[in-house]
Amino acid sequence: MTSFPNSRAAWLRGPSAECSSDVEPDRPWRLILLGAPGVGKGTQADLLRDRLGACHLSTGDVFRAAASGHGECAPSPAMTAALDFMRRGDLVPDTTVWEMVRERSRCLRCRGGFILDGFPRTLMQAESLKQLMETEKLVLDAVVNYELPLAEIVERLSGRRTCEKCKAVYHVTRQPSQAAGICDRCGGALIQREDDRPESVMVRMQTYERSTAPLIDFYRDLGMLLPVAATGTPEEIYMHTVKALLKRASPGH
Ligand code: AMP
Repeated sequence: MTSFPNSRAAWLRGPSAECSSDVEPDRPWRLILLGAPGVGKGTQADLLRDRLGACHLSTGDVFRAAASGHGECAPSPAMTAALDFMRRGDLVPDTTVWEMVRERSRCLRCRGGFILDGFPRTLMQAESLKQLMETEKLVLDAVVNYELPLAEIVERLSGRRTCEKCKAVYHVTRQPSQAAGICDRCGGALIQREDDRPESVMVRMQTYERSTAPLIDFYRDLGMLLPVAATGTPEEIYMHTVKALLKRASPGH
């Protein structure tokens, strides 16, 4: 079993990896981040992971790692088909996504908790996750729903750049790296994701409205929804998130 200092890398490597965090968590936080593509869930998940010590689990990262040949083993036929959906901006079929999450379900037991980013994305995935958590006796703390107007989402997606190596996220104007095209953290090359190109962005927004937006009502009905305005700097949005989480966690919220 291999141990990785960066919890996000462990989740990427697959079921045999074990994660560890540099932060000594006060308590586990078990969170789902919801919101349209481009609202900044990945950036917030990174901040929450660094400061709360929870694992950042991104299903999109796993698919991108498989697409670039960095997965644990050669992609299965189901994964190869899944990558075609992803390149078009469509959702990967629920069975493939669930198989991948189930294989890594021990990550849900991480000491600092978990931050699910990009999962669940459909009602079926949400139902499967709910059942798994009930079986594992794990309790969700909140579902943070990041809210942002459409025009700003499109601007954010088109300027987003991601580090090929460590997956850190930048924006050409809002959050540029110190040296253009180079990651501040690890020196990796910054690239535009294939599905951040305009033709895929439109498909992703329609898919979000059709498949993922209904999750807002699902989690509201369960009393788990925590709306947070995704406006301002990443640091400001982080502060709003933590404030809302602590308010919710305190007795009589
Ligand atoms: P993301 O980085 O979360 O925006 O995900 C990138 C792409 O990966 C999505 O547009 C989908 O094609 C695929 N994907 C990631 N997570 C899921 C999921 N939970 N269900 C279905 N497809 C997913």
